[in-house]
Amino acid sequence: MPRYRFRDTRRIGPVEVGTYTDRHGREMHSAACTAPHCGWSADYTSRAAAELAAQSHRCAPR
Ligand SMILES: [Zn+2]
Repeated sequence: MPRYRFRDTRRIGPVEVGTYTDRHGREMHSAACTAPHCGWSADYTSRAAAELAAQSHRCAPR
């Protein structure tokens, strides 16, 4: 699991969006799907992008 401390986590459908500070001190935003067997996740430099990706994510098995 992530080594980073997430804050402002928000669930959008099956996807969780969270903000964290990476090891370079930059604020980053992650979106990760919590659905079983999905495993999709992505990092974004803006919160809006992460939330948009979460909203448009569709689970696609493999
Ligand atoms: Zn998914």
